[in-house]
Amino acid sequence: MLRHSLSFPARRIVDAARRRGLSLSLSLIRPTSLAGRASPHPATTTFSASSSSEEYDDETTTNPSKQEEQIHELHMLQAIEQAKLAYAHGEVPVGAVLVSPNGDVVSRAYNRTEADGDPTSHAELNVIRQATGGLPGGWRLLDCTLYVTLEPCPMCAGAILQSRVGTVVYGARNTLLGADGSWIRMFDRERPHPFHPDVRVVRGVREEACGNLMKDFFRRRRARGA
Ligand code: ZN
Repeated sequence: MLRHSLSFPARRIVDAARRRGLSLSLSLIRPTSLAGRASPHPATTTFSASSSSEEYDDETTTNPSKQEEQIHELHMLQAIEQAKLAYAHGEVPVGAVLVSPNGDVVSRAYNRTEADGDPTSHAELNVIRQATGGLPGGWRLLDCTLYVTLEPCPMCAGAILQSRVGTVVYGARNTLLGADGSWIRMFDRERPHPFHPDVRVVRGVREEACGNLMKDFFRRRRARGA
């Protein structure tokens, strides 16, 4: 049975947002300042801000309701805040948050590859490591939703599948290393993960803001000659 038929816990997520004094109105989640920043040197980037959902229109694709879209936007904003923390620390700006089935944010993390001297210290792995053990399902993150600003790489896609994350929501495409079709397809229904075949994928949430962070980071790094 496909997970599509399961109801998204939107009501509880909305309630959780309201408990924090957050409104889900789209008027409050307009693009951040970086989103509208024009780069004087556009082009040479591997982070796409122009995905076409049609080419990935397989059974993992979801068609969220308006309310779900607002919830995704809200949580992606938190992931973007994590990405900005990474940026401020000189790390490739990728951020992630993990949301429990009842709509609570259970962990937040960003890429710390340089700080940790660890090539596995990606935002997704860090957010999964923080969350596992703290939920009733232990390491199984079934029905949790992982938000990440960039299409996961193969290492992180593997961890997402192994930890049984129910839904992955990402922003910009990683056209060089993405494991959702940009490089390889690890969420493919034709050859699904044997123990987690029905992972859901939502693509392109606040894609421009997520992609612009990456573009800005690498443009500045090139300008410094790093
Ligand atoms: Zn990764």
